[in-house]
Amino acid sequence: MKKIDVGRIIPSREECGCGLPHEKTLREVVIGRSIIDDLTRFLDALNVKHSVVVFYDKITYKIAGEKITRLVDGLGFEVVKPTFKEAEDKTILAKDAQTIVAVGGGTVIDVAKYVAYKRAVPLITIPTALSHDGIVSPIVSLFSEKGRTSIVTKSPVFSLIDLEIVSTAPTILFSSGFGDLLAKVVSIKDWQLGRDETGERYCYTAEKYTMNAVEMIVDCLKTGQAYDYEKLAEALVYSGISMMIAGSSRPASGSEHLFSHYLDMYSPRKAPHGIQCALGTIPTSLYHEMYNSNWWKNKDYSWRSLKKYMETARIPLSLRELGIPVEIAVQALIHSPSIRPEKLTILHKRRPTEEEALQLLKETELI
Ligand SMILES: [Zn+2]
Ligand SMILES: [Zn+2]
Repeated sequence: MKKIDVGRIIPSREECGCGLPHEKTLREVVIGRSIIDDLTRFLDALNVKHSVVVFYDKITYKIAGEKITRLVDGLGFEVVKPTFKEAEDKTILAKDAQTIVAVGGGTVIDVAKYVAYKRAVPLITIPTALSHDGIVSPIVSLFSEKGRTSIVTKSPVFSLIDLEIVSTAPTILFSSGFGDLLAKVVSIKDWQLGRDETGERYCYTAEKYTMNAVEMIVDCLKTGQAYDYEKLAEALVYSGISMMIAGSSRPASGSEHLFSHYLDMYSPRKAPHGIQCALGTIPTSLYHEMYNSNWWKNKDYSWRSLKKYMETARIPLSLRELGIPVEIAVQALIHSPSIRPEKLTILHKRRPTEEEALQLLKETELI
């Protein structure tokens, strides 16, 4: 079993000097096989005793939710829709909760994270897939009338990643996890644009954790090990930690994530989050290579290398195969900066024309 003693590895805000929050809500993460059986022991160590509310959905209830609800002798709530409205309803239901346990993928974790934040109680996450880096991040992404909205809440205090449980997830979700991490090669460079051109606060500790995560999975993918789930889990945790340090999604979400958000809003068909972010990473990394003199000099992070790693991670990269219309992808490259106008990215700095956007997709062979 691997144990990450998070509280000990993060320097304080003063030590770092970046001016960003350097939250330390997340204390510990454990990663291993069949460690769910030790859940009560972990909860004892965290001093969690009663009034535990477990969140799950239909699928994750069968995978682990039922067992966990029994283990902690807790009350269970099913998550049906990933909306703020539902999260508000659950906040009312969970009024006596002393601790909230989220058993699931993105949606369940997001709803539970929001409820825990609203009720100001500690959260524990037990992922059932390694598809994104929200497992320990403080970011919640839910639907409202305005579309998908992200807000900053609190990270969980503890996360238990049982490799036996996550290994039951469909392969495409692992590919999504790799995609969400490879996307950081672009997000960090977009954040640096904000630092250099608008004086935005920047944290080298957060950058270190994000890039550690990227290096870990690039090492795996370079040697063809797309199935090292322990490394993938650890890397997703490090990326989540970087967001907790920065107090925002900035280290982990740049123009490539805006591309994915645009698809969430306008594409008739959607792919898992990390797959869409991977799709966005390829044209935006080429665009950085063309117009950002501060782009990575390391050839490992060229758009061609990134695309190769994605293929090893079995990320589907054809728009047609994914059912995403070319016009929507072109519009995403041009208009997605309007989703978050205040955070500079390469697409804000130099908005591509329709012709240029189309050319980026052609050159990278996404179409
Ligand atoms: Zn993401
Ligand atoms: Zn810092």
